[in-house]
Amino acid sequence: MDFALNDEQELLVQNIRELMASENWEAYFAECDERHEYPERWVKAICELGFDLIMLPAEHGGLDLGLVTLTAVYEELGRWGAPTYVLYQLPCFDTILREGTPEQIEKILAYVGTGKQIWNSACTEPGAGSDVGSLQTTYTRRDGKVYLNGHKTFITSSAKVPYLVVMTRDASQPDVFTEWLVDMSLPGIKVEPLNKLGLRMDSCSEVYLDNVELDESDLFGTEGNGFNRGINDFDFERFLVAACDYGWALSAFEEAARYANIRVQFGKPIGRFQLNQFKFANMAVKVNAMKNMLYETAWSYDQGEMTSAQAAMLKFYCPKAAFEVVDDAIQILGGVAVAGEHRLQRLWRDLRVERISGGTDEMMLLTLAKGVLRQYKD
Ligand SMILES: Cc1cc2nc3c(=O)[nH]c(=O)nc-3n(C[C@H](O)[C@H](O)[C@H](O)COP(=O)(O)OP(=O)(O)OC[C@H]3O[C@@H](n4cnc5c(N)ncnc54)[C@H](O)[C@@H]3O)c2cc1C
Repeated sequence: MDFALNDEQELLVQNIRELMASENWEAYFAECDERHEYPERWVKAICELGFDLIMLPAEHGGLDLGLVTLTAVYEELGRWGAPTYVLYQLPCFDTILREGTPEQIEKILAYVGTGKQIWNSACTEPGAGSDVGSLQTTYTRRDGKVYLNGHKTFITSSAKVPYLVVMTRDASQPDVFTEWLVDMSLPGIKVEPLNKLGLRMDSCSEVYLDNVELDESDLFGTEGNGFNRGINDFDFERFLVAACDYGWALSAFEEAARYANIRVQFGKPIGRFQLNQFKFANMAVKVNAMKNMLYETAWSYDQGEMTSAQAAMLKFYCPKAAFEVVDDAIQILGGVAVAGEHRLQRLWRDLRVERISGGTDEMMLLTLAKGVLRQYKD
């Protein structure tokens, strides 16, 4: 296994580092977080350096540099406390290239390089959270058109994206799950943004669909395969969640370590007290475990071998471990971290949400356990 970056990859990471050092982005992030606003200026800036081209195949104008490269970029951005969670749509072009019609691909790829929000997938409903299969939103065919009816909830980015991939079931054959690429400007769609504890630079909303009229050409992927499509792509999303979490933990760890070396109490730096050293030892173990698990999984992905169990292991371990690291870092910084504004407050809130969105800790354990046991079946 070789995670070493080549010159092109190193240059990309170096460019990202220089961009992050070029201005006080933290002030911008704090402002966006406070206002619940998408940090478009920053996303556009990293796209100008090629961020959204990293995973895009060369035939679509991309760099095709693979997931190990993307992981190195997430690591660098996370180290600066950047809100990498808003970027999840940009490396996911694999889904549209695999499932989309040529017209749908054109619509989505038109946003490459713009820094704007593009699309997301809407599965969750008030009665269908972890149990996605119990969703009730339906599609009905009538007079050559298709009509969607239902209520989705907790849908990320839905207040701003031009398109949503909506998971539905056939009104006349409830076992048939199908997705639709829905233009969010259509009549019959109502979006109600929700307030939330963290991840505030992206919206999260209720989405009501009342007789939303679509054409057959809006079908996304293969009729009846919606559920499998969604489940398969969850793995990549879980990887990205873990990549964000690791970066933020690294950021908090480094800040706390620097602080512990210079903050003097009782006549010596607080890093000399064993109680604090114990925290740093535990933080270092977690940061290192996250890093190795992530790069190993990214490498597997680049070989076409990432498993659902690997993705679930990351999504279970990283949000929790990173939350603990940030929590310990807050303890090390003391009042400085909790009074007034400090970016560790934001990371702490964001990480708490990460343990639920994209699949809860408990569901990750169930997926991981199934995958592990399957490996040892005769
Ligand atoms: C900020 C945010 C953004 C989101 N973005 C999107 C989005 O863009 N698109 C989308 O479709 N969804 C989205 N979701 C929904 C998210 O995927 C669900 O919240 C998540 O799957 C859990 O569903 P739930 O909240 O209804 O909890 P529930 O499923 O009701 O679970 C409640 C608790 O019970 C536990 N539990 C449930 N079943 C079991 C079981 N079998 N065994 C053990 N424990 C169990 C859970 O782990 C959890 O702790 C988002 C959620 C949040 C919070």
